[in-house]
Amino acid sequence: MVRVTTDRTAPATAAPDVGPAALLDGLLDPGTVASSDLVDLLAAVCDVPSVSGDEAALADAVERVLRAQPHLDVLRDGDALVARTHLGRDRRVVLAGHLDTVPLTDPPNLPTRLETAPDGTVEMWGRGTVDMKGGVAIMLALAVELGRPGVEPAHDLTYVFYDHEEVEASLSGLGRLVRNRPEALAGDFAILGESSNNGIEGGCNGTLRVEVRTHGVAAHSARAWAGVNAIHAAAPVLARLAAYQAREVEVDGLVYRESLGAVGIRGGIAGNVVPDACTVTVNYRFAPSQGVAEAEARVRELFEGFEVVVTDAAPGARPGLDDPLVADFAAAVQAATGTEPRPKYGWTDVARFAELGVPAVNFGPGDPVLAHKDDERLPVARLAAGRDALRSWLLDAGTAPGA
Ligand SMILES: [Zn+2]
Repeated sequence: MVRVTTDRTAPATAAPDVGPAALLDGLLDPGTVASSDLVDLLAAVCDVPSVSGDEAALADAVERVLRAQPHLDVLRDGDALVARTHLGRDRRVVLAGHLDTVPLTDPPNLPTRLETAPDGTVEMWGRGTVDMKGGVAIMLALAVELGRPGVEPAHDLTYVFYDHEEVEASLSGLGRLVRNRPEALAGDFAILGESSNNGIEGGCNGTLRVEVRTHGVAAHSARAWAGVNAIHAAAPVLARLAAYQAREVEVDGLVYRESLGAVGIRGGIAGNVVPDACTVTVNYRFAPSQGVAEAEARVRELFEGFEVVVTDAAPGARPGLDDPLVADFAAAVQAATGTEPRPKYGWTDVARFAELGVPAVNFGPGDPVLAHKDDERLPVARLAAGRDALRSWLLDAGTAPGA
């Protein structure tokens, strides 16, 4: 076994031929990935930096690992990879995760390092440990193991590793796969390795961004009576927002809490001019019980009498817990980790699978509260716990008596 825990503080140039990408190869071939290997694997996938737009080196390393598995059929599209088993099972489960991260801190929070918290918890610190290379490491380990002779999963499996999740939606590697290779993403259920504390976070809220615009008449501020102040005209817009009571909506047994509020305000061109235009930018995070059109209608009703322009919208996703396969996974995770299914408030790529008609949930080892933070870190015991819950369900689901 290759150990990488010995000296992570050494500069990467000290051993150029045993870089993280080479370690990935060594860690994954051959054999079942043991818990300690899983920790090394997480370090390896994190220590190949992959800030959005710069995923090629990690995608290359992951591709090498996947192509070395005889039970996987692999395709690459840009820096996205899809690897599939063809075991002739009735149903197919998709395991998906993005390879990119948000930018590093200054000084850089890579390479990763292990630290022991005061309560004795061993944590891996560094960019990507939470969002979402913990999930990626688990999926990679499963990709290597499940489907080898004697390790028969209950369903056919599709692994999707993709680029450009942490940037604007138009660049999304998963969105590109949806456009270029939708058939490769086909499945009965998708599990996204986004951080969820090893619990199920189902579906996600949708998001709608609008500009509420007011208009006035410009004038010299010394003779303000000659003009009409557009910023003052926005006062009722702010009053309606301040008074708005966000809804809580139950969908498939989970309660989604909505948010609606101003995220920006713009107006005025100089310190001596009555502004003739003002724009309040409003973001509505809406429960997946309604689509974009309904959400837009709700916002237009709230701002009746004002000009409302939609600038950005993405539908949410129902949690899909009414689907027997999803419900079975949720029950298995709850039994294994003691965590009840919860709603996901932030928008995630489960919505893209929902659009393809594939129910999807988030299930990953990280704590979502630490995603994108400077002190991003993962208690390493969560890796094996998450992998074990997922692995045993993939091996047993649908084959247990009465299932
Ligand atoms: Zn993420």
